[in-house]
Amino acid sequence: MASLPLRFLLSAPNLDALGPSRAEVAVVGRSNVGKSSLINALGGSDKLALVSKTPGRTRLLNQFAVGELGTLVDCPGYGYAKASQTLRHSWQKMVEQYLLTRPQLVCILALVDGEIGPTKLDVQLLDWLRAEDRPFAVVATKHDKVKSSQREKRKRALAEGCEVAPSEVVWVSAHKGVGVDRLRGLILERLAA
Ligand code: GDP
Repeated sequence: MASLPLRFLLSAPNLDALGPSRAEVAVVGRSNVGKSSLINALGGSDKLALVSKTPGRTRLLNQFAVGELGTLVDCPGYGYAKASQTLRHSWQKMVEQYLLTRPQLVCILALVDGEIGPTKLDVQLLDWLRAEDRPFAVVATKHDKVKSSQREKRKRALAEGCEVAPSEVVWVSAHKGVGVDRLRGLILERLAA
């Protein structure tokens, strides 16, 4: 499958500053989960998500066009150890409001580190998405970091920790390209629905 036609549009400090969209997919995950690497892999360019790492933009919603089909929003990574409680709280509120009320949102890709499994914060986020009845999909990252002999077991444990069926977890490697086409397909399907 071809790369997704991703093009950076803007960085928004809040929901109201986002650009128009037909349909939108959001990407969320704790910092270091592999979010930027994955967005670059989806778009087939190692520069796409650079913007999401630019100081001053790490707390913003970074919106990309997916061709003419819709948009993709890279949400600020949660769980920055260095952030003060107050700051963490203000981003959290902004991201929560976005995830809860953006009318165009058709799917939230919740990233979980495939090497270490879901953290307490990941589980909290998933519980909250479920309680709020928001559409989400669990994406495990760093497939290549787990030995092939351990992968089946790891996938089952990860799915159990996230309270989803193993078949529902899309496990990707941004570095090796594993699962990236499957995720591209899922994004295109949700945007086109
Ligand atoms: P972000 O903070 O969530 O945007 O995470 P990054 O994309 O910056 O990745 C965090 C770290 O994990 C970096 O050192 C990446 O090289 C590494 N990483 C990300 N994806 C993969 C992957 O698929 N395989 C491996 N082995 N490392 C990865």
